[in-house]
Amino acid sequence: MGPSEQGLYTIRLPQLKSIPKVVFTATKESSTIWHNRLGHPHRRVLQSLISSCFLPVSTKLSSCLCSSCQMGKSCKLPLKLSAFHSNHVLDLVYCDVWGPSPTLSIDGYRIFLLCVDHHSRYMWLYPLKQKSDVYTIFKNFVSMAERQFSTKLKSVQTDWGGEFRNLTPFFTSLGIVHRRSCPHTSEQNGTVERRHRHVVETGLALLAHSNLPQRFWHFAFDTATYLINRLPSRTSSNKSPYQHLFNRKPDYSFLRVFGCQCFPFLRPYNRHKMDFRSAPCVFLGYSPDHHGYRCFDPATERVYVARHVRFNEHILPFRAPPPPATPPPAYTSIFPDPPPYTTPETTPESCPAAQTAHSDHQTASTSSTAAFPAHSSPTATSSAHSNPTETLQQHVPDQLHTHSFPKYHPTCSTASCKLTPQPKTYRSLQSFSLLYHHLPWSTY
Ligand SMILES: [Zn+2]
Repeated sequence: MGPSEQGLYTIRLPQLKSIPKVVFTATKESSTIWHNRLGHPHRRVLQSLISSCFLPVSTKLSSCLCSSCQMGKSCKLPLKLSAFHSNHVLDLVYCDVWGPSPTLSIDGYRIFLLCVDHHSRYMWLYPLKQKSDVYTIFKNFVSMAERQFSTKLKSVQTDWGGEFRNLTPFFTSLGIVHRRSCPHTSEQNGTVERRHRHVVETGLALLAHSNLPQRFWHFAFDTATYLINRLPSRTSSNKSPYQHLFNRKPDYSFLRVFGCQCFPFLRPYNRHKMDFRSAPCVFLGYSPDHHGYRCFDPATERVYVARHVRFNEHILPFRAPPPPATPPPAYTSIFPDPPPYTTPETTPESCPAAQTAHSDHQTASTSSTAAFPAHSSPTATSSAHSNPTETLQQHVPDQLHTHSFPKYHPTCSTASCKLTPQPKTYRSLQSFSLLYHHLPWSTY
């Protein structure tokens, strides 16, 4: 280091005649070379390096598509919100199949078909045993919807799953536009995908609150759909889909707590005059075909559809009763060792108090036990429902094994119903009755 002259350091070279002439230069590489050198970073990162670290770049950032980046980092592109606008019911209906459920439902269902109207966001849920049922159910859904709403279904959007492919001739014959999602792009069917999640999560919340086993999932999901259709939606100016579709407010006074204890009027089912007029049942939601409630009798594994039902919404029969409270001491004393109680004559003051407290405790204990029905005692609950994922075979009587249909008739709401219909008849009725979910005349 030498002295500075006016702020600069001078380099004094030796006075030699044969000094080679040297030119000091800095070479600048192209932005593409720097992109490759730095391991193919994002364009924004490279721009930041150029401006902050003064990388010597000879050219502007290239806007060419780097094939190596595409091969190594290809990802899904952001989707814009659909610009589709509908003015009428059935302009567009989204459809998708959910499942299979890991637990077979009590009625033998594994999957469900969900149809969502784009205009009103109203949903129809159809529990199914197999995907091939979609063909029949959807054709019947179209007939029902077109008749009930006096309009034609114009377009359907699906994820082009196998269950919808054989509907193509049906769509073509009626002039229905079949909008299909691109392969592996379920986001394009996002409306019904979000609805699936809403239905399943609400249904699971109902099961969690009621502590019903998972084999009741289709009752829970059906009730979830019924309720979501009646909840206000932000996308519809806080109107419920029901109000949007039927142009009237739903009747909330009809709702009850899912899974609570109920007592349906069962006198028409009595076999003799000494039969009880009712039995403690579990509320399993709203009948799609009647203006009534579905009541499950755990003692007989039978579902009744009834209009005349008394509810006890504070008792959930499948939920284990709370553990008994620790009995309070009969009396407290400031003495470390109170004198033993011998005879009423020796301690005339403490004896009545102790007896009263003891009898009060006994009364409270008895009444808390009596608040739960006999079939929901801790022993019965733990033995019957310790594993919520138990299969149908473990719980359902032999009759269900052989016939694989429920013990209630789907159109039976009062007396004189045949409880063991022929399987063929039941299936046809079941498929047909499923179409009348949430009709104007059945959803007051
Ligand atoms: Zn690259």
